[in-house]
Amino acid sequence: MPAPSTAPNLMATIVSLCKRRGFIFQASEIYGGMGNTYDYGPLGVELKRRVKEAWWRANVTTRADVVGLDSAILQHPKTWETSGHVAGFTDPLVDCKTCKARFRADKLGEAQCPQKPSRTPLENKCELTAPRAFNLMFKTHVGASEDSASVAYLRPETAQGIFLNFKNVLEASRLKPPFGIAQIGKSFRNEITPGNFVFRMREFEQAEMEFFVPPAQNDEWYAYWRARRLQWYLDLGIRRDKLRVREHEKDELAHYSTATCDVEYEYPFGWGELEGIACRTDFDLKRHSEASGVRLEFFDPDTKEHYTPFVIEPAGGIDRMALTFLIDAYAEEMVENEPRVVLRLHPKIAPITVAVFPLVKKDGMPEKAHELEQELREAGFSTFYDEKAAIGRRYRRQDEVGTPWCVTIDGDTLKDGTVTVRARDSMKQDKVAARDLVAYVTQALRSWKQG
Ligand code: ATP
Repeated sequence: MPAPSTAPNLMATIVSLCKRRGFIFQASEIYGGMGNTYDYGPLGVELKRRVKEAWWRANVTTRADVVGLDSAILQHPKTWETSGHVAGFTDPLVDCKTCKARFRADKLGEAQCPQKPSRTPLENKCELTAPRAFNLMFKTHVGASEDSASVAYLRPETAQGIFLNFKNVLEASRLKPPFGIAQIGKSFRNEITPGNFVFRMREFEQAEMEFFVPPAQNDEWYAYWRARRLQWYLDLGIRRDKLRVREHEKDELAHYSTATCDVEYEYPFGWGELEGIACRTDFDLKRHSEASGVRLEFFDPDTKEHYTPFVIEPAGGIDRMALTFLIDAYAEEMVENEPRVVLRLHPKIAPITVAVFPLVKKDGMPEKAHELEQELREAGFSTFYDEKAAIGRRYRRQDEVGTPWCVTIDGDTLKDGTVTVRARDSMKQDKVAARDLVAYVTQALRSWKQG
């Protein structure tokens, strides 16, 4: 198992590592930044892409009963009236009369008073206004006029686009319940108190699935997706003791939901939701059916009856997942009396799979290294070439961004065609024939187990 991190302020350490090594930057930084929006740099974009690929592979590609969708961010405004978002997608907002800061009334215990950041507004006895409902949807206007008829919303979740396409997908793909429609895409929420880096942003990416089932199979599929989604995080290396599934209490449930749970992770700032799995019954399909006049039902050819399927919805945030993988993978340790920072990312999500180094910048080593790097790239691996600094330093730089394997081209390569492959976690070195390198990495990736 990975050694526990020893960083005293893990969140600040991760934020600084992300900036320094090109994972995540503050958006619009040169203009002083834009509140809780972030840009993904060269390594971050690769990490996020791999998280999305792993999600899509587990939930769509490898399954015969789930298909994908990519619906528009701007949908007909009636979508959000019908779904209840216009009336009810609100957070309770309070203002501090002294310092003018705004807080979520239900998160006062977690907020910081700007005048005394060591205290919450409650501890500081701030003078707060009564809570008022604040809608989290971003409004915009479609077309040239800005009257109320042109109002549109940036979607606050991807799920509604799936319900709107239920009939289209059903007819086009000829699936029958139980089946799912999955989608990954951007969502937007005007969060009142964003914070904790990419944990809570105003623009973020979601990975959601609506899994449509015959009503009688609701409970078994809920249990199935609960277990399945938890296992996905474990398979990608998240520590078991840092994950838990929290079943919602009856008074937390939406009025239409029979059960909901959150997969939670223990972040440096406490337990937080990573993903929700909700039983949404037939609520959404029925509402959209009534509001649009279009029948959103399934005709069962066996019983010759129409029925509205029930829905199980696993809904996670890609940015929260990426952050969780980074936090969970981070470790500081002493190796031969030298500190080493290592990101023990699962190789399937590590942004760089193989780094290639010539031992020295002469004797044809750089040329051979470039040649091997190109071969690895063409085989589909992401690589990084580095010829600067001592070999030990080059290893450390790769450890810090989670590169599972480093390959060194040395004197032996030129003599007998072997290269040295050094593993990130064990730091063990293997001699491998250069011509077998692609096969070696392919196999190592396939059989990788957390050390
Ligand atoms: P929270 O209680 O943290 O506000 P939520 O219950 O409103 O989250 P859902 O509507 O269930 O979240 O959205 C599904 C997932 O989308 C969440 O589990 C989370 O991973 C992600 N998510 C939601 N809001 C944000 C946000 N503002 N920034 C980043 N990810 C988010």
